[in-house]
Amino acid sequence: MAKVFYDQDVNWDVMKGKKVAVVGYGSQGHAHALNLKDSGVDVVVGLYKGSQSVETARKAGLEVKSVAEAVAEADVTMVLIPDEKQADVYKTEIAPHLKSGSALAFAHGFNVHFKQIVPPADVDVFMVAPKGPGHLVRRTFAEGGGVPDVFAVEQDATGKCFDVALAYARGIGGTRAGVIQTTFQEETETDLFGEQAVLCGGICQLITNGFETLCEAGYQPEIAYFECFHEMKLIVDLMYEGGMAKMRKSISDTAEYGDYTAGPKVVTQDSKKAMQQVLKDIQDGTFAKDWLLENKAGGRAHFLAMRRQHAEHPLEKVGSKLRGMMSWLHTHQED
Ligand code: NAD
Ligand code: MG
Ligand code: MG
Ligand code: MG
Ligand code: MG
Ligand code: MG
Repeated sequence: MAKVFYDQDVNWDVMKGKKVAVVGYGSQGHAHALNLKDSGVDVVVGLYKGSQSVETARKAGLEVKSVAEAVAEADVTMVLIPDEKQADVYKTEIAPHLKSGSALAFAHGFNVHFKQIVPPADVDVFMVAPKGPGHLVRRTFAEGGGVPDVFAVEQDATGKCFDVALAYARGIGGTRAGVIQTTFQEETETDLFGEQAVLCGGICQLITNGFETLCEAGYQPEIAYFECFHEMKLIVDLMYEGGMAKMRKSISDTAEYGDYTAGPKVVTQDSKKAMQQVLKDIQDGTFAKDWLLENKAGGRAHFLAMRRQHAEHPLEKVGSKLRGMMSWLHTHQED
């Protein structure tokens, strides 16, 4: 089992006198910047000219500068812009201004692990990645708690990188909940695998196949939506709260019996073999190469076509109609 680090394991002194530049003010950016500031850290937000976030960040009491200016004065630069934009911004606005002996930080390992960003040898490189969306990271912190993080040291130029990474995790509230050490390689490969095979790719295809099976057998699409899609959240909430055991306790014995008997017939050993192939494509860089190429040469043509095609699926049409009947969905959607 992994060792868990808490507030009392942190050498907070390493943050004293340090200036942290948070580049980007989106989901993660606003949460890191505000939590660090509330923890007493000197924070500057780096944004491009004309960004709509400039006003929002200033109104929240934060200092805002251009990315280049923020990086130039920072002891820690946390890069929180979309992963596919990071390499360009790094080359033009970050690398030329990075102070020797400062730290370059990320919330996801993709660009460093796949060598889209190759930091110079005289800076520390670490990751602190909250296991939750930015709004949850901010809200939980404001309520006195924290969202667990994983953290990693990729390059220790100063001999202090481990301490700085843990202190950063404390600054955003992570060590209140507990943080676990990983590597850039492990975080990147497992993150991509999880979203492709299970969380996004796997679940969306499972729901779609179930919905299509019922519709093709002549059942009403509205009923198919309720049974194969809408109820997913109820089931996942129970698993999230208390494991599969809590979910299975809550469902009927009939449902539980069908769970054990039909599950392995639908998601088979062949599916597991396909997962192993997906993992292999991630590990050997095939997926990263395809995705980077899609962004560079293709103008995202294939990606945008798939997005359009999936948005037009009957499942989405009927879902949109049914969700319109669910008044409680229209009130809290921030997370
Ligand atoms: P986001 O899309 O929410 O925010 C992007 C921000 O970057 C915006 O403020 C945008 O204005 C700014 N930006 C875009 N281009 C810019 C440029 N050229 N210069 C300066 N700023 C620019 O991004 P996010 O979801 O917060 O993701 C940031 C990082 O955090 C990524 O590495 C991501 O993998 C990681 N991460 C995200 C989550 C999550 O739940 N969203 C969780 C863990 C880790
Ligand atoms: Mg998106
Ligand atoms: Mg992930
Ligand atoms: Mg991901
Ligand atoms: Mg049912
Ligand atoms: Mg039961």
